[in-house]
Amino acid sequence: MKIFYSLLLLVSISTVSVCQTYITNVTLVDVENQKLIPQQTVIVSGNSISKIQSSKETKIPLNSVVVDGKGKFLIPGLTDAHVHFFQSGGLYTRPDAIDLRKYNPYKNEIEWTHSNFEDLLRRYTRAGITTVIDPGSTLNFLDQRKSFDEKAFAPTIFMTGPLLTTYEPEPYKNLEKDEPFTLIRSAEDARAAVQKQLPYHPDFIKIWYITSRNEKTVEDSARKFLPYVKAAIDEAHKNNLRVAVHATQRITAELAAESGCDFLVHSVDNKIISDDFVHLLKTNNVILCPTLLVSNDYQSTFLQECNFSTYELIHSNPEPLGSLSDLKHLPDTSLANGIQRRSLNRVSVLTYKDSVMMINLMKLVAGGVTIATGTDAGNIGTLHATSYMNELKAMQKCGMNNWQIIQASTINGAKAVAKESEFGSIKAGKNANMVLLDSNPVDDLENLQKISLVINKGIVMKPDSLVLESPLQLVQHQLNAYNENNIDAFVEPYSEDVELYMFPDSLMTKGKDAMRARYDPYFKKYPDLHCEIKERIIQGDTIIDKEYITATGRKPREAIAVYKISNHKISKVYFIY
Ligand SMILES: [Zn+2]
Repeated sequence: MKIFYSLLLLVSISTVSVCQTYITNVTLVDVENQKLIPQQTVIVSGNSISKIQSSKETKIPLNSVVVDGKGKFLIPGLTDAHVHFFQSGGLYTRPDAIDLRKYNPYKNEIEWTHSNFEDLLRRYTRAGITTVIDPGSTLNFLDQRKSFDEKAFAPTIFMTGPLLTTYEPEPYKNLEKDEPFTLIRSAEDARAAVQKQLPYHPDFIKIWYITSRNEKTVEDSARKFLPYVKAAIDEAHKNNLRVAVHATQRITAELAAESGCDFLVHSVDNKIISDDFVHLLKTNNVILCPTLLVSNDYQSTFLQECNFSTYELIHSNPEPLGSLSDLKHLPDTSLANGIQRRSLNRVSVLTYKDSVMMINLMKLVAGGVTIATGTDAGNIGTLHATSYMNELKAMQKCGMNNWQIIQASTINGAKAVAKESEFGSIKAGKNANMVLLDSNPVDDLENLQKISLVINKGIVMKPDSLVLESPLQLVQHQLNAYNENNIDAFVEPYSEDVELYMFPDSLMTKGKDAMRARYDPYFKKYPDLHCEIKERIIQGDTIIDKEYITATGRKPREAIAVYKISNHKISKVYFIY
């Protein structure tokens, strides 16, 4: 019976002709050999790359899908090797860094991250990021991510369970399967913590190796916790799981590497690393992810100096982005002022750390250590999917060249999870995760954003088809742009024939161009224009905002705006002053 069943299955598979996709006449970006290979045809069968050959030699069978790659560049899908889905990137996401739970309970944040997991995954794929690595998640996220395994809109997700830590911040205690940390106080605890994650099938294990102030020196503290780190690494390796370690001090990073960790998820930022350390990472094949910007993103949020680009305003999930400016109108001004004061004091510390990270990164690059691009997205101010380009530019500023950065963002990301035989470059047999670009990314990294098509899990998709914003997102998106005085991002979510009315029926402006002409001078005249939403009602395709608008040189004003949404654009607005 069993044999019969298998035979039947074989027959049915062989009689159905598998539809193939031919990407023709394309310039292939060979990231491993740092070469551009023109005039190639890449053949995709199912979800993998079956063949690559010169376009001249290719005969295309009837009934195959053809993608004309003429004049375009094909790169492997990008990897963000350090993100956290339990964090939104918004202001309320790290109550241990800034405790605003009385304004927004942490429970809301947990709910938001789970219900927007799909949205964020779609934004990653739209940005050409077809693999995300989450070193530090929760058991509930390990469960939820399985539902995206077969979905073409979702990147491939590599994820750990909760971080193993010797210190657990108070806001995360007693959250059960939503807890991002597991407290360990002994080597036995460390082994048990690894064991506890196994039924949830983590892809690797993460250790938060931080020192406490209870010991005389940082090194004393690092050595005190070392047996736990060693036990966790040993237990994970016994179960064929790699180990990622958060170690930002020279001593913890050295001890973690000596103990056999596989992946350091941050730069060392307190001291210049030694040549021995560089050599150790190289010989032990330890991958390092520099995450150059995450601390600065906290800082810019607290100082209210985010300055989002048009790209970020248009492509980020607008809710966390919008929350970042809530500090401007926090009811507790003493809290906001305290945060600002502390942030100002930290400016010199961060500048010092930046230059240490810069020197360390170039020492690692010169020593041949594998560097993987990662943003630490989800932390306050580091937005999912859209912070990626900022990180690439920071790597460039450190002195890495474009080829090195493209390698760090593709094949090296695969190496971080030891899956370079499966993805990370365009080769026969590898997963069909690729991005078709309009321009050469080696000339200019910004060309990585000029995406013609994304091919994920073998499926060819137009980037803009991946994310259709909800009414709430459209309205929040234009509000964020209004608060940033960015006219391009502001008009983007409106339809071409948008109509603005003074309630109930007096037409003020019709069409996007007229709207731009109306608002542009206003944005220029009031550069600190700020609109706070006092109340919001969401009813299907209608959103009603009660606004409070302030600007220097202008009396504060209250207004009500009624937004009507049709075909995923804002088509009408009615104002009541
Ligand atoms: Zn992290």
